[in-house]
Amino acid sequence: MKKALQACYATLIILLLSFPITVMSDESVDFIAMDHEIYLDPWLSYQKLISLQSEAENYDERDYLWWLLRKAQTENLVYFYGDFSESVKQANNLITATTPLVIQAHLSLFQGLIERREGSYSESQETLAKALLQAKEAKLSSLYVYIKQELAYTKTLTELFDTSLVDIQEAYVEAFALKDQYLIASINETYGAIYGYLDDYEKSIEYYQRALESYQNMGYPAHVAEALYGLASTYRYWKKYDLAIKYFELYQQKTDYTPNSNISFFSAYGIGMTLAEKGDCLDAIAIINKALALNGIVDYNAELYKRQASCLIELGRLDEAGVAIANARTIFANIPELIGTKWQLEVKKISAELAHAQGQYDVSFRMLGQYYSEFTELLLKNSSQRLLKVRAGLEMERMKISQALEEKHTQVETLEQEKRQNDSTQNLYFSLFILCVVLIVFIVIVAQYQGNRRMHALMVKDSLSGLFNRRYIFDYLNKSVLGSNPEKTQLSILLIDIDDFKNINDTYGHPVGDDVIRKVAEIGLDALRQGDMYARIGGEEFLCVLPRTSILEAKKVAERFLALMSKSNIIKGQQDNVTVSIGIAALSSQCQDSNQLYINADHALYQAKRQGKNQVNVF
Ligand code: GH3
Ligand code: MG
Ligand code: MG
Repeated sequence: MKKALQACYATLIILLLSFPITVMSDESVDFIAMDHEIYLDPWLSYQKLISLQSEAENYDERDYLWWLLRKAQTENLVYFYGDFSESVKQANNLITATTPLVIQAHLSLFQGLIERREGSYSESQETLAKALLQAKEAKLSSLYVYIKQELAYTKTLTELFDTSLVDIQEAYVEAFALKDQYLIASINETYGAIYGYLDDYEKSIEYYQRALESYQNMGYPAHVAEALYGLASTYRYWKKYDLAIKYFELYQQKTDYTPNSNISFFSAYGIGMTLAEKGDCLDAIAIINKALALNGIVDYNAELYKRQASCLIELGRLDEAGVAIANARTIFANIPELIGTKWQLEVKKISAELAHAQGQYDVSFRMLGQYYSEFTELLLKNSSQRLLKVRAGLEMERMKISQALEEKHTQVETLEQEKRQNDSTQNLYFSLFILCVVLIVFIVIVAQYQGNRRMHALMVKDSLSGLFNRRYIFDYLNKSVLGSNPEKTQLSILLIDIDDFKNINDTYGHPVGDDVIRKVAEIGLDALRQGDMYARIGGEEFLCVLPRTSILEAKKVAERFLALMSKSNIIKGQQDNVTVSIGIAALSSQCQDSNQLYINADHALYQAKRQGKNQVNVF
C-alpha cells in the first residue's frame, strides 16, 4: 500500500514537471520548417522573429543561427536590404566547421544574393556555386534546385546564356521530379527573366504569367509582386510601354505586404525608365529623381542616371545632364564586371550626345567614333556568344521537347493502362452478359423441353397408372393392324379387367381402389415383355398389344400375369386377394381389323368372368 502511494506521488511529480515543458515546446518556434510561413506573410514572420530576439540570444548556437537565418530571410523579402546584409554577415561570423550544412548552404545562398545585388556578379556566382555544393553534400534536394536556379539567373545577368540555360533546364527537370510547386514557380520566373534578356518577349511573358499564377495560388505576396515586376520589365523591353506602366503600377500596389517604402524604388525605376524610353521626358525625370532618392540597387541607379541624362539633353538642361553622366560613369567604374558591356558603353554615347548639344562637334565626333568602334568590337565578341545563345536556345528547346515527350509518354501509358482496365472490365461485363444470355436461353429451352414433355405425357399417358392412355393404345393398335397381312403378321391382344372392383371400392374406399389400379399396372409391366404395349383404357380395364405374338404365347403372358397377381399382396394388411380376368384375341383371317380384335377380346373376357373370374379366356 505504501509502495503504491509512493508510485502515485512519483507519477504526479513527473506529470507536474512535464507540464511546463510541454507548454514551452508548444510555444517554441520551429525555425527549420518556417519557409511556407515566411512566404505567406513575410512582415508578420519578421515581427515574430524580432519579438524573439532576447530569447534567441539565450539559444544554443545552432538554434541562434537558425533564428538569424530566418530573420535574414524575412528582411530580404520585406526589403530591409541593409539589415539583411547585416544579419547574413553576423551569421557568417558564427559559422564553424561543426555548423550544420543546411545552415551553411542557406547562408551562402543569401551571401550570393547580396553580392549579386551589389553588382559583384563573378563573386556572386562563386558563392552560389559554393552554396550549391553544400546543399548537394547535405542532400537538400529542394534547396539545391533553388540555388541552381538562382545561379542560372546570375549567369544570365552577365550574358552567360549558354550555361545558364542548361542550368535552369536541369533545375526545372529536378523540380519537376520533386513535384515542388514553389520551385517550379521560381524556375518559371527565372525562365521569364532569361527569355526577356534573350529578346524572346512572348515566351518571357508566358513564363512570368505561369509563375504569377502559381504564386497567387500559393498566396505568397512577395513572390506575386516579383512576378508582376518581371512582366512589367518584359513589356518595357518589348516597347509595350502602356502595358509596362500598367504592370509596374500593379506591382507597386502589391508591395503593400511590407511597410518599407523603399521598395517603391523598383516601381519608380520601372516607370521612370519606361517613360523616358517612351519620350515623356518631363514625367520621366520627376520619377527618376524619386527613384534615385530611394535606397535602390547600384547598377539600376547607373541606368537611371543614363536615362536622366538623355532626357535632360533633350530638354536642354545640359549642366544637369553632365552631372548625371558623371554619376553613371562612377558607378560603372566600381563594377568591373560591367566594364565593356553595352550598358557601360552607352555612357560614352550619351556623353557624345551631350558634347554635340554643347556645340563641341569635334569632341562629340571623336567620342562617337570611339563609341562605335568599341561597340563594333563588342558586337564581334558577342557574335560568338550569340551563336552560343542560339545553340543554348536550341538545346533548351530540345530538352523541353524530350521532357514534354516523356510527360506525354507517361500520360499515354496511364491512358493505355486505364484503357486496358476499361477493356478488361468491359470484357468481363460482356462475358457475364453472354453467360447470362446463354443461361437464360438454356433455361428457356429446358423449360420448353420439359413443358413439351409434360404436354406429350399428358397427351399419351394415363395420369393415375402412368401407363399409356386409351387413345394412344388404340392409335397404336390401328397402325399396327392397318396394312398388315393377318396371314403373316402375328399380333395378339390381352384385355384385362380387375375382378369385383366395385366391391373393393365399396369395402376399402376409392383411394385404395386407385392404389389397386396402380399396383395392377405395375404387375402387368413385370408380366409383359419388351416391345409389348400396355395401357389403361378405362376404370379398371387394361389393354395389352403384343406384336409378333401368337395366341399361345399371348396365353403364356396372360397366365404369367395371373400368377404374379396371385403372389402379390395388393391390399396391404388384408387377406383378400385381388384378381383379374383376361380375354385374349389374335389377328386371323376371320379377324382382320382392330375393332373386331377388341370385340373378340372383350367377348373372351366376358367368358372368363362368366366362368368364375381370375382366369384367362382365349377367343
Ligand atoms: P366384375 O368383376 O364383373 O368386373 O365386377 P366389377 O365390380 O369389377 O365391375 P363393375 O363394372 O360393376 O364396376 C366397376 C367399378 O369401378 C365401377 C366404378 O365405380 C369403379 N371405377 C371406375 N373407375 C375407377 C377409378 O378410377 N378408381 C376407382 N377407385 N374406381 C373406379
Ligand atoms: Mg369393368
Ligand atoms: Mg371389373
